[in-house]
This record gives sequence, structure tokens and C-alpha cells, in this order.
Amino acid sequence: MSKPQPSITQPTTTLHLFSRDLRLDDNPALLQACQSERLLCVYCVDRRWFRAERYQTRAMGALRWQFLRQSLEALQQQLAKRGQTLLVVHGEPTQQLARLIQLYSVDQLSCGHTVGYDERHSLQQLKARFPRLHLCETDNYTLFDQQQLPFSITELPDSYSKFRRQVEQLSVNTPLAAPDLLPPPPPLLQSQDKLPSLSPGFDQHSDFNGGESAAWQHMQHYFASNAPGHYKATRNALDGWQNSSKFSPWLNSGCLSVRRLLATLQQYEARHGANDSTQWLYVELLWREYFQWLALKQGVSLFRFRGLRNQPPLTSFYPEQFTRWCQGTTPWPLVNACMNELRRTGYLSNRGRQIVASALVNELQLDWRYGAAWFEQQLVDYDVAVNWGNWQYIAGVGVDPRGGRHFNLDKQTSQFDPDGTYRKHWAGNSTPAPLYSRDASDWPVLPGKHSPTPRQ
Ligand SMILES: Cc1cc2nc3c(=O)[nH]c(=O)nc-3n(C[C@H](O)[C@H](O)[C@H](O)COP(=O)(O)OP(=O)(O)OC[C@H]3O[C@@H](n4cnc5c(N)ncnc54)[C@H](O)[C@@H]3O)c2cc1C
Repeated sequence: MSKPQPSITQPTTTLHLFSRDLRLDDNPALLQACQSERLLCVYCVDRRWFRAERYQTRAMGALRWQFLRQSLEALQQQLAKRGQTLLVVHGEPTQQLARLIQLYSVDQLSCGHTVGYDERHSLQQLKARFPRLHLCETDNYTLFDQQQLPFSITELPDSYSKFRRQVEQLSVNTPLAAPDLLPPPPPLLQSQDKLPSLSPGFDQHSDFNGGESAAWQHMQHYFASNAPGHYKATRNALDGWQNSSKFSPWLNSGCLSVRRLLATLQQYEARHGANDSTQWLYVELLWREYFQWLALKQGVSLFRFRGLRNQPPLTSFYPEQFTRWCQGTTPWPLVNACMNELRRTGYLSNRGRQIVASALVNELQLDWRYGAAWFEQQLVDYDVAVNWGNWQYIAGVGVDPRGGRHFNLDKQTSQFDPDGTYRKHWAGNSTPAPLYSRDASDWPVLPGKHSPTPRQ
């Protein structure tokens, strides 16, 4: 029989584990932690992120690390203004947290509710090891709290449309202001771990700067423009800063609360009037929401080859073809341009992501998980639930009842890059090499043989 959880009215020392909530604004988990007498603010850098373990890729690429580092430095400064400090520890998260819990006699651990499988597993291990530790998980990454959903997670609708119909009229909690004051850190706190440095000489230009104030700046700029009013018409474009909102890196690192973003969108609608475009932005945020809850329901099957449908796609693995897809040297200039943009900037439009994912799955007939893992390494806005969920969707192993998605490359090229500007900008035409130049050990599967029916 499991022991009852001790009830704690006022915890003495709370460890707040920052994770995908790198902000002070609208952070209910942090506010909860402020009830404590002492507060230890912690972020854990998992060294495994930087090793190429699965699928020959790393969980953390250089550009997201740069963004994350900037976000941590900005958070550090915000905390310092309130007499606090951010302890950045390095290593295996469960071990590091266990060490801190013991060292600082922590009696409460607060954190944002996470849907990530590894993170959930780590919390379970800590719970088992410290039965008296009060674990306080709060939803601070999603629009809705889990208990607001009109169904249990096991009964989550099996399609996005059904989900959307059931939740779009629900009210979203008003975002909470940042705390003015924070409890002091425990006196034992000695030296602060240093943020590991970036690779020598690494200082790449990026359009995305990490941190809460950079997120607010971007949000204010976006809603001061007329872009939200045209979003639906422009969101599918391959290039162009204001064609889509570009909120994803800040949302997914937690520099920006999705509830704050929605409240700002609603203010915009109050000033300028709601239209199809402003409503569509909400529709997209609901996609993000759906994938979060879906990941929680799916657990480890989010990463399985057979996916949620338990259906193995027809694939084989050709290392050379995968490398050429990653490096943008396939026979398809549009795919190459997209992959070049992704490699150089850490960002790719939604249309671009769909096109290259479809090419990997359908034209190259490779294992979709390699594509998902490459995105994980490259994307500045990587989100475990959204990325793996979208890949499952395109590979036809996700929840979508219509099966996979096959984007016709000629059609996509003439529709989205008719004059070749995008391909020229990202050097998509520079290496038009034929694909099947290999021997029997790397035997090709002819395109189209097992492909789902091509769709737009
Ligand atoms: C194969 C594949 C992998 C993807 N991986 C990721 C990922 O790791 N992280 C990520 O944030 N998005 C991912 N997306 C979704 C989408 O491409 C990005 O969210 C979007 O391009 C980000 O740019 P934006 O903020 O300008 O989007 P906008 O078009 O302005 O949309 C606003 C917000 O809505 C959400 N959103 C938009 N499109 C989607 C979508 N298709 N699914 C879920 N949420 C969406 C995002 O939070 C986005 O910031 C992926 C899509 C595909 C096809």
C-alpha cells in the first residue's frame, strides 16, 4: 500500500525546478513556491543532450543551446533583481536533484507539469526515493489546466477536430503577474554553478534571442503591426519574418506564457476586431495544445516506429540518403533549400517542415524517427510533443484517421516558390545530384511504390 502524502501547510524549503518555464510572468508553479520560507531556484543541464546517442543526432543542437543559454542568463538577471539566484547544475537530472534535496533539506519540489516521458520518469524516481517530499506540479506550459479539460487524458479525442470542438469555447485562465518578491535562497547555498560555455568561437547570428524580455519585445512588435490581421493568408509562405508569428521558440522554452500570448491576442482583437486570421492563430495554438495532451496520453509510444496506430510504415534505412536529406543535397531543390535554411537558422516554416518531412517519408522512404531526431537537434523551437506528433502525423502512424501525408513536390514548388526566389536564397539548386548512385548494399526503394496517395 502506498504511504499517504504528508500535507504541508507551509513548506520550509522549496526547490523550484525551472524547465520549460524560463520566466517570472504567469508562472503559477513559481508563485506556489513563493509560499515557502526559502526558495532554491534550479535549472538542470543534462549532459546527455550533447551526445549523439540515438539516431546519430544530439538532443540539443548548437542554435537551441545558444537560445537556451541566453534565456537562462536573462532569467538569472531577473532573479537577481529580486534577491534570488539561479543554480544551474549539470548532469543526470534525477541524481542532481536528489543531491540538492538532501543538501538543502528540501521539503517541497515545485515545477511545471511536464508531458515529456523522461521528465515524468525522473519525477517518479524522486517521489519513490523521498516519500516525504511534497511534489507540486502546476500546468504552466499549456492553455488549459489538465482538470479543466472536459475529458480524462485516457479519453482524449482521437482527432484534432474533435478535440478542438470540445475545448475551443473553454475559458483560459487569466495570466498571473510576476511576483514582486521571492523568498531568499537557503543560507547553505555556496557557489553558483557556471553555465557551460558554448563551443569556442561559437557566436552564430540568429533571428531569435532567448529570454523573457526578448519574448515580450517580439510580442509587442508583432501585435503593434498589422500582421495578425493577415495571418491566415500568409502563414503558409516559405519565407518572410512576419508571414507567421514566430512565437514558437519563446513559447517552447517557456520565456513566454501561452496564456499571456492568448490574452495579448484578445487585446488585439478588442482594438482592431477579430477576423479569420486572428481566430486562426488561436486554432494553431490549439494544435500545440492538442499535441501536449496527446503526448501525455501516448507516453513512450510517441517515439515508436509503429506510432500510436501500431502500424509499421514501409521503410528501410539508407545512411547515404539520410545524410543527403540532412545536408540538403537531394535531387529536389525545394527540399534542399528548406534543409539549408533549417541547418543555418534553426527555423523552418510550417510548410517547409511538412515538405521535407513528406520527402523523407515518401520520396526517400526512410524511417520517420530519423527525421524527427534531426529536427530535434536542429530546431530552435523544438518541442517534444509537437515535433514527434507532427512527424507521426506525416508518417501516417499518428492519430489522424486519414493516414499519412504525401506532398507533391512539383506542385508545392510551383505553388509556394513559383519564381524560385526561395530556392535561390537558400541555395537549393546548387547540388542537383541524382539519388540512386549506389551499390547493392544501399539498394534503393523506388519512389511511389509504397507511398500513400499524393495530396496537396
Ligand atoms: C514535421 C514537423 C515538425 C514540427 N516540429 C515542431 C517543433 O518541434 N516545435 C514547434 O513549436 N512546432 C513544430 N512544428 C509545427 C510548426 O511548424 C511550428 O510550430 C511553426 O512553424 C512555428 O512557427 P510560428 O511560431 O511562426 O508558427 P505560427 O504559424 O505563427 O503558429 C503560432 C503557434 O501555433 C503553434 N503551431 C503552429 N503550427 C503548429 C503545428 N503544425 N502543430 C502544433 N503547433 C503549431 C506553434 O506554437 C506556433 O508558434 C512542426 C511541424 C512539422 C510539420
